[in-house]
Amino acid sequence: MGIENLLRKAEEHGDLSHDEIQSLLSLSNPEDVKHLFEAAYRVKAANVGKKVWFRGIVEFSNICTKDCYYCGIRKSNNEAERFQIPEQEIIDSAVWCWEAKYGSAVLQSGERSDPAFIDMIERVIKEIKRRTNGELGLTLCLGEQTEETYQRWFDAGGHRYLLRIESSNPELYSSLHPSDHSHAERVECLHRLRRVGYQVGTGVMIGLPMQTLSHLADDVLFFKKIDVDMIGMGPFLYHSQTPLAKLRDQWQRPEEELLELGLKMIAVTRLVLRDVNIAATTALQALKHNGRELGLQAGANVIMPNATDTKYREGYKLYENKPCTDENASMCRGCLTRRIESIGETVGFGDWGDSPHFKNRNAEAIKNQVSQA
Ligand code: SAH
Ligand code: SF4
Repeated sequence: MGIENLLRKAEEHGDLSHDEIQSLLSLSNPEDVKHLFEAAYRVKAANVGKKVWFRGIVEFSNICTKDCYYCGIRKSNNEAERFQIPEQEIIDSAVWCWEAKYGSAVLQSGERSDPAFIDMIERVIKEIKRRTNGELGLTLCLGEQTEETYQRWFDAGGHRYLLRIESSNPELYSSLHPSDHSHAERVECLHRLRRVGYQVGTGVMIGLPMQTLSHLADDVLFFKKIDVDMIGMGPFLYHSQTPLAKLRDQWQRPEEELLELGLKMIAVTRLVLRDVNIAATTALQALKHNGRELGLQAGANVIMPNATDTKYREGYKLYENKPCTDENASMCRGCLTRRIESIGETVGFGDWGDSPHFKNRNAEAIKNQVSQA
């Protein structure tokens, strides 16, 4: 099928095969790439509108019990200075998001599953809910946990959860992690989250060593198969204090190419998944100052401005060249709002901005229950 017909089919219904997805990801002619982004933008406007949702992210601790080969805060990185923001300050940062009329806040950290941590998160969620009259949406991004823990945090008031699969391919996943990090367990966690009732988000890193376009096409089909509500994915960026840094010379892509691949993944995911929320992540901005705006123009509709107190940001380096580490949260809010308005979109202040996919799926489930009754 010619490119024009393929793009038309993608825009009409997005029901694409693996090879068709891979063909879209491999487009390199600038005109074709532009048409891909334009098609994805039209599908975004029709399915989720042109409103951008802000989720203020609070990266409250870099203490991690895991050892992912790509990540700057992995437990074996002895050069990382560890920090944990005091409970009250985490709560204050989330309350700031509510005062700034962000629809929701995201609590993110290294992975811990000891009882003290689980209790602390439960207390923090409850207190944030109390201080914001239940008005602030709360997304958790705290790694793999038992169903009981997910349930406790859900009952406390968390309602969305982000857990990237990192790569849907088990072999590629195992080459990026020590042998006790299990791909099957990570997939199971996504099912657990759904059973508990969260809006579930996942995603992958793009441009990993050994990763092919065929892997990425499989990733898009994986998102569809598990029926996710939200996507948070972004370019992989090297951190010199990690094992993967050894592969940099062999596998690193030029920044422009990596950025374009990240944008193409957003566009293709929009075309295939239609009504989910898709984030334009900070890693895009690390590659180009307006990377996140380009993400919005390629089909994303969520931005996660950093709401962590600047004095802690230096410590939370998953990758190098993280932007905005010295810009405080209100500066981020002002500068982002202006940038978004400059591309003809508006910010959805004061509303949770749940993914239409989540609402549509629930409406469908209720309809089925009624018809079976
Ligand atoms: N510990 C939790 C949440 C924090 S890490 C977890 O792992 O789920 C959040 C995300 O950062 C990870 O899912 C991973 O996709 C991303 N990440 C880690 N190292 C990265 C790197 N070097 N480049 C780009 N993204 C990275
Ligand atoms: Fe820990 Fe998450 Fe980094 Fe893995 S990606 S080392 S779990 S913070």
